[in-house]
Amino acid sequence: METTATAIKIEKIKTSKISQVDFDNLAFGSVFTDHMLVCDYKNGAWQTPEIMPYQAISLEPSAKIFHYGQSIFEGMKAYKDDHGDAFLFRPSDNHRRLNISANRMCIPEIPKAYFMDGLKELINLDKDWIPQKDGSSLYIRPFIFASGKGFHASPADEYKFLICLAPSGAYFSGKVKVLIEETYSRSANGGVGFAKTGGNYAGQFFPTQLAVKEGYNQVIWTDDNTHENIEEAGAMNIFIRINDTLITAPTSDRILDGITRKSILEIAQAEGIRTEVRKITVPEVVEAAKNGSLKEMFGAGTAAVVSPIAAFGYRGTDYDLPELTDSYASRFKKIITDIQYNRSEDPFGWRQ
Ligand code: PMP
Repeated sequence: METTATAIKIEKIKTSKISQVDFDNLAFGSVFTDHMLVCDYKNGAWQTPEIMPYQAISLEPSAKIFHYGQSIFEGMKAYKDDHGDAFLFRPSDNHRRLNISANRMCIPEIPKAYFMDGLKELINLDKDWIPQKDGSSLYIRPFIFASGKGFHASPADEYKFLICLAPSGAYFSGKVKVLIEETYSRSANGGVGFAKTGGNYAGQFFPTQLAVKEGYNQVIWTDDNTHENIEEAGAMNIFIRINDTLITAPTSDRILDGITRKSILEIAQAEGIRTEVRKITVPEVVEAAKNGSLKEMFGAGTAAVVSPIAAFGYRGTDYDLPELTDSYASRFKKIITDIQYNRSEDPFGWRQ
């Protein structure tokens, strides 16, 4: 074991698995790099982080993660430019959001140095795993869960913070057809929708499966109270363009404060695109689809950057969106990926 300046213990693998990986056929999040970071919380404090070979971890059957779902995670990426240099995109925002989730789920906050130094050390060690092909990247999954034992329904006294890395290929979503959901909800007022906690995603699987059976790819979430307001697109934030105005729902305790969403809002402002952060209702969007003013709908998130929606279903009718040659979606995707892959200046200071 070596110890770094930031007191991270490092145990390197003896032989890398990298030669066994087919980098041309990477299914998302299914191949993992040689190393992972693990940091335990016990006796009221985070202990020394350790980087070690990627491996299974052992837990007590009564660990509270299994029973009460006390868990949070983040999703981010590392990108390589043409010279082989690696970059992160707004990593401090992921750290901030992880701690927002931590507070809501009664999980101890992870100090910034543990997160950032651990992340940089781990990525540096597994740098060869960052694919250099355009659109490919290294997906980063930091997460914290309750490892403390006991069936008592209360916060655990022990936690584990891990970071695992998974090389991933370019994400082509194809023509996405979405269903506006009016029966199920992903979040509620006063709930945990704004936190990246496991149960939010488990709860989405069933309604999404129902939508897939009906021929849709994804669900558009509406507010739990009236099901009138459009809130998110699957596990992405949503943007709707009516004429030349770009509209997105305001963040709330039901909506995740997406880093791609806020980047798009800042870029739109810089580009002189008119934006409105306000409630947008299903009848307004249906009316816009009928009168031809609905130009674009797209999801926004780390995985795909933007995911254009080709059609939406509502109460038994499908509404098609026009195919635009110069869409806002493709414009935002280019500006964001050019920053991520170090192909352009970064006037916002997002690249690290
Ligand atoms: N909403 C939800 C529910 C998500 O899980 C994600 C993915 N993190 C997003 C929106 C998009 O967030 P980001 O742009 O930070 O990836």
